[in-house]
Amino acid sequence: MFRVGFVGWRGMVGSVLMQRMKEENAFKGFEPLFFSTSQVGKSGPEVGSEVYKLQDAFDVSILSELDIIVSCQGSGYTEKVYPELRKNSWQGYWIDSSSKLRMEDDSIIILDPVNRDVINKSLASGIRSYIGGNCTVSLMLMALSGLFKNNCIEWISSMTYQAASGAGAKNMIELVKQMSRLSDSVKDLLDKPSVAALELDSAITEELRKGVLPVDEFKVPLAASLIPWIDSPKSNGQTREEWKGMAETNKILQTAEEIPVDGICVRIGAMRCHSQGFTIKLKKDIPIDEIEGMLGEAHDWVKVVPNTYEDTISKLTPAAVSGNLNIPVGRIRKLNLGPEYLAAFSVGDQLLWGAAEPIWRMLRIVLEYLG
Ligand code: NAP
Repeated sequence: MFRVGFVGWRGMVGSVLMQRMKEENAFKGFEPLFFSTSQVGKSGPEVGSEVYKLQDAFDVSILSELDIIVSCQGSGYTEKVYPELRKNSWQGYWIDSSSKLRMEDDSIIILDPVNRDVINKSLASGIRSYIGGNCTVSLMLMALSGLFKNNCIEWISSMTYQAASGAGAKNMIELVKQMSRLSDSVKDLLDKPSVAALELDSAITEELRKGVLPVDEFKVPLAASLIPWIDSPKSNGQTREEWKGMAETNKILQTAEEIPVDGICVRIGAMRCHSQGFTIKLKKDIPIDEIEGMLGEAHDWVKVVPNTYEDTISKLTPAAVSGNLNIPVGRIRKLNLGPEYLAAFSVGDQLLWGAAEPIWRMLRIVLEYLG
């Protein structure tokens, strides 16, 4: 029986991974072991009728005995433990949600509905590190896979609207605390039978600027505002999040010729789900019905949303998509820039297809491969 270790199973990505594996009855055909960097010896998750004791996630000797390690712990952990394991000639499969190993030559970025052929070839060639992609990149590829598959894209600009939960659990809590504090600050005004919108606006703006909102995580208020910067700066003026768009897209697809991808990544006050507005330069003028056909046929989860007000507001928002595996893509139309310029908008749950879903599916693919 193969032995599979789970590290980082109680974080945001890890708990969605556990939930999805239970829903899919995926804890079978292997012996699971659960690890923690901080809760060693305590009770782990309940899987089936069994509750597992937590092992030390830094104990390389226990980890070395595993056939597969699934880590949702973060880059710092991977940086510390992964080289130790490989140095000790560990030959197992490493499946990871963090970005640490994504761009290494001997790792593959996994998104099986989009690059199953790349994954199959890599398994056959002996590659043993399989890494989940950046959430926005994975969601873009899930949404636009049909156009990539049919080699229609010359370049893409993606303007993102990324949820607070993409930055982790603490950030999500901070956003709600900011919202709560703002709403408390105008409670008396709202209780009045008639309230002037401008009066409300100046009260909220004053509260935003007073320096009283909790901002330990985001550094500035996100509630009733936005932050057009995600991750660290690169020397060319991009943020690292923006840099990943082109680097990871081309690595996931293993393109023969690089497809340029760029845009501005923005944190907004949504709780969950990353949204993106695309400007796509097509290689030629393609009619909208053909484009919609290619997009909709790409895989089971992409759903083309008709470009109407009713369909857009009911199907293409974080509130509608949160917790859902479907990837709606809508607002599909030609831009005034010319017949080869296409607009589209997509929303996806970044904790599902942007994080946990490709990871547990890769575990299943490796187990099937090992037979
Ligand atoms: P997270 O919620 O911060 O969890 C990471 C680890 O923090 C947990 O496994 C746990 O490890 C520890 N932890 C400490 N206090 C905790 C608490 N109160 N509740 C739960 N866990 C606690 O991180 P994450 O958002 O899941 O991200 C994990 C990795 O996936 C990162 O590399 C991230 O960049 C990547 N990723 C995240 C997203 C996303 O949308 N959040 C999307 C794609 C990729 P111990 O049990 O060892 O203490």
